[in-house]
Amino acid sequence: MSSGDRREAAPAAGEVKNGVVSGDLSQRQIQSEPASGVVAPSQNQRLRLNPSKDHKPESYDDMQLDFSPSIFSSLERYLPPPMLGVNREEKVKFMREILMKYLPQGERTRVQRHRDYRQKIITNYQPLHRELYNLHIGNFFVPPFVKAIQDNTEESFRSIISEPSPGVFTFEMLQPRFCELLLAEVENFEKWVNEAKFRIMRPNTMNKYGAVLDDFGLETMLDKLMETYIRPLSKVFFAEVGGSTLDSHHGFVVEYGKDRDVDLGFHVDDSEVTLNVCLGKQFTGGELFFRGTRCEKHVNTGSQTEEIFDYSHVPGRAVLHRGRHRHGARATTSGHRVNLLLWCRSSVFREMKRYQKDFSSWCGECFREKKERQRLSIAATKSVKNSVLPMHTRTI
Ligand SMILES: [Zn+2]
Repeated sequence: MSSGDRREAAPAAGEVKNGVVSGDLSQRQIQSEPASGVVAPSQNQRLRLNPSKDHKPESYDDMQLDFSPSIFSSLERYLPPPMLGVNREEKVKFMREILMKYLPQGERTRVQRHRDYRQKIITNYQPLHRELYNLHIGNFFVPPFVKAIQDNTEESFRSIISEPSPGVFTFEMLQPRFCELLLAEVENFEKWVNEAKFRIMRPNTMNKYGAVLDDFGLETMLDKLMETYIRPLSKVFFAEVGGSTLDSHHGFVVEYGKDRDVDLGFHVDDSEVTLNVCLGKQFTGGELFFRGTRCEKHVNTGSQTEEIFDYSHVPGRAVLHRGRHRHGARATTSGHRVNLLLWCRSSVFREMKRYQKDFSSWCGECFREKKERQRLSIAATKSVKNSVLPMHTRTI
């Protein structure tokens, strides 16, 4: 097998990895299966290097599969052209063979369990506001936000966005009515969870309250929201961390106040880009505090004065930041605060990060180290120059 074969297989790996991720799963070692394991049956059946943008993948939702249907839809764009015309069953067979080589048994069991979990919810939970389950621009977003995204220029974005601290972007996003409906839907879901004595999975390792929106039917809507309304922004403001290739998300709400979480410790998110929008209700406290963006190596280093920033939530207003931007939430001292979180991820960025060492231009500490190295090197060059002929003599 030539090295070309391996290169062609690589993007599919990212896609596969990504399609599965819907929880706190980023640490999975897909690489433990060698890439050379992905071999299509013959030369003209190799996966494509780039996805076919024009091809509209089929839905696999109704099929009994041992991988998430969304993986099949994502992978379908990478199928070799002759495969695109064959029937769904044949496509599934072809893709399944590839997937089997990437995902170890333990992982498949976990994915299957999560699918069963979702299926149980979808069959038994009656949504309160069905209009939330399809993205409706006019009902969801405030008009200036919609206009800025449609205009799709950095200038139009800047006209509605402020950047109170480097890398922290805030803007008016959601209509009050939408916030109310979503809050009511979440309450309704929690009521059902309690009544049915259903064991609910919490949104992440740090929040004990809240719910994963993707688990009760909002995944498709949130996917569209990310693709159409967040990716244009992250493409401009967070290109260096995969902002232009966001392709999956983890969407959830967190709840703070009496009988809920009080505050949230200092952390980084399992996302490339995080959207955090306050939905309400009445509350005091609960400020977000930011302390600079850091790579894995520097995550525990100190902060510079210019990196220290506190933000007070306003219902309907969004905050957009890198997942690696260290932050936490102060205590919500009275009332009840609910926030919508969308962790946006890029499988391409995560895959590339494995192979490239210098990937941290966005890390405050790496940046400072680099500047310091440059300063020392310039100083060293100067002292060498001073010890030999003066510059102007040599240039004549
Ligand atoms: Zn660093």
